[in-house]
Amino acid sequence: MAEIKRILVTGGAGFLGSHICERLVQDGHDVICLDNFFTSQKSNVAHLLGLSNFELIRHDVTLPIFLEVDEIYHMACPAAPGHYQFNPIKTIKTSVMGSINLLGMAKRCGAKILLASTSEIYGDPEVHPQPESYRGNVNPIGPRACYDEGKRAAETLFMDYHRMNRVNIRIVRIFNTYGPRMHPYDGRVVSNFIRQALTGNDITIFGDGQQTRAFCYRDDLVEGIIRMMNGADQFIGPVNIGNPGEFSIRELAELVIELTGAKAKLIERPLPADDPTRRRPDIRLAKQELDWQPTISLREGLVKTIEWFKSVDLSHYRPPTPNYV
Ligand code: NAD
Ligand code: UDP
Repeated sequence: MAEIKRILVTGGAGFLGSHICERLVQDGHDVICLDNFFTSQKSNVAHLLGLSNFELIRHDVTLPIFLEVDEIYHMACPAAPGHYQFNPIKTIKTSVMGSINLLGMAKRCGAKILLASTSEIYGDPEVHPQPESYRGNVNPIGPRACYDEGKRAAETLFMDYHRMNRVNIRIVRIFNTYGPRMHPYDGRVVSNFIRQALTGNDITIFGDGQQTRAFCYRDDLVEGIIRMMNGADQFIGPVNIGNPGEFSIRELAELVIELTGAKAKLIERPLPADDPTRRRPDIRLAKQELDWQPTISLREGLVKTIEWFKSVDLSHYRPPTPNYV
């Protein structure tokens, strides 16, 4: 039988964190889910409560915590622009102080630790698609900087703990991921468009909708992250995990309308400052080192996501901040 590990998932009640917890619990590990519920709620992990190999702790990663673990998936951080910009100082503290606290824990326990970094560290990229070697084009003083620079600093901390203290690290750069359990009011484009379409509202396109993103379905993402954690110690990343299928935001809106059968109109809203013009991962490294590539098309993933949105009662969700449209 495979080794049973004690695994901490920070941000474990969130969209991606809850799916990682679920997968690790199914694999028989002892899982500790830690979250302050800023952008999530207990219902994401309610089905795991009561299982003998699952534990839930309400805690903020900006504060120290002492646990004994073998592995850490460090996912805690608000991820949607409206919510991470709501309290930007808290956002950068979450990335920087949170990483210091968790890296300290990894060092003390001899645990392996994985950072959920982001394609945002490439900023508004001048290189397309983006390989891991590209150093990015981030505005350090703009409204997205609390997130982008916070994650860049987190990557720096991970590398320095690795070089200086030999902490066993992994860095994953996640590109736009969507799927069931996204917060319906998280303000990200997929959840906004589906919620708007299903509730008979107009679809809000920021700018002219020609900006692009590449959307990865959550099952592909979770598989990539788990492979990275369990891969060879020589390969610490950073590695891009995302789906290279690139779509304009207008194309996404049209697909959501087609798949929901909604009568919604597309309405234009001002483009937020520093909104990246285009984004697509170069995933050659993930293919080569992890034998990983996405298997679920945007159309297929959206069908599953729309089904999930239809199955939930939106009145049970509290918007984390007012910034969701
Ligand atoms: P999410 O908002 O659903 O999850 C983040 C979780 O972290 C939430 O449960 C939130 O309550 C928790 N959290 C926030 N601040 C915290 C703090 N100070 N202490 C403890 N918990 C805290 O978002 P997600 O999409 O699941 O993102 C998870 C991680 O993946 C984030 O680190 C995000 O930056 C990264 N990421 C996600 C995407 C994506 O497209 N989903 C893309 C790039 C990077
Ligand atoms: N977007 C949009 N309408 C919305 C929400 C977002 O047109 O209601 C656009 C946004 O301006 C950006 C893209 O969709 O160009 C992706 O936005 P999201 O917040 O999902 O992620 P990120 O910008 O961080 O990739």
